[in-house]
Amino acid sequence: MLKGKTAIVTGSARGIGKAIALKLASLGANIVVNDIPSSEDAAKTVEEIKALGVNSVAVLGDVRNIEDVKNMVDTAVSEFGTVDILVNNAGVTRDNLMLRMSEEDWDLVLDINLKGAFNCIKTVVRPMMKQKKGSIINIASVVGEMGNAGQANYSASKAGLIGLTKTTAKEFAKKGIRANAVAPGFISSAMTDKLSDDVKTKYFESIPLGQFGSTEDVADVVAFLASDMSSYVTGQVINVDGGLVM
Ligand code: NAP
Repeated sequence: MLKGKTAIVTGSARGIGKAIALKLASLGANIVVNDIPSSEDAAKTVEEIKALGVNSVAVLGDVRNIEDVKNMVDTAVSEFGTVDILVNNAGVTRDNLMLRMSEEDWDLVLDINLKGAFNCIKTVVRPMMKQKKGSIINIASVVGEMGNAGQANYSASKAGLIGLTKTTAKEFAKKGIRANAVAPGFISSAMTDKLSDDVKTKYFESIPLGQFGSTEDVADVVAFLASDMSSYVTGQVINVDGGLVM
């Protein structure tokens, strides 16, 4: 489905980004694994991707830094010839109630989650415009749609990412570039694994499908949006949340 395509996945050394990178690779795409400069997992992720029979390279760099982002996109083009897919997945949380939230934590989360995606989009559209084709997928969150106490910075960054997605879709549609967002709900992770059964049961009651999602659930929807199976879909937000928001 993605044979010969090139995908950049930011923050993909581990977690949801890694699952996305492995999924796109399993469908034939060559993968640029990006993560923060100190990442120890990126090289291992590249090896796991290569074992699937495609090419992969790690380009460590901070999505907040435009020079790092340019290096990432230039490397994708020089190694693989094109960039067909960008997945803006890198993201962080610094939760606190608003009255206690520091300016530093507000800025950090907005800079990585929102400005980082802007940097990557602005840079990657140049090679995509040349080939008159591309798919950009931003990993938002249900809290960008419904808000969440204790996450003013994070929910604002994810709501901003949804606006950025729609603007990208409108500005670049005529250039053959599509942009969509995926909004995960509760996804099983090291963090949710630690919750007690009682707490988990409470969460499950708020989710119509009655369970947390997996990183693969998110990756499957990203793969659909990355491929030509979604060629008439742009400017959309697809929730992967078991029906939590509807
Ligand atoms: P994760 O395990 O913390 O993975 C995020 C990755 O991004 C990490 O490898 C992280 O590096 C990297 N990263 C952080 N800052 C970066 C930067 N400035 N430049 C490049 N890479 C950077 O998180 P996750 O749970 O997989 O989440 C992935 C995405 O899904 C995020 O955008 C998150 O907001 C979104 N999401 C997650 C959930 C969920 O339930 N997990 C729900 C909704 C949305 P280090 O941590 O090693 O520094």
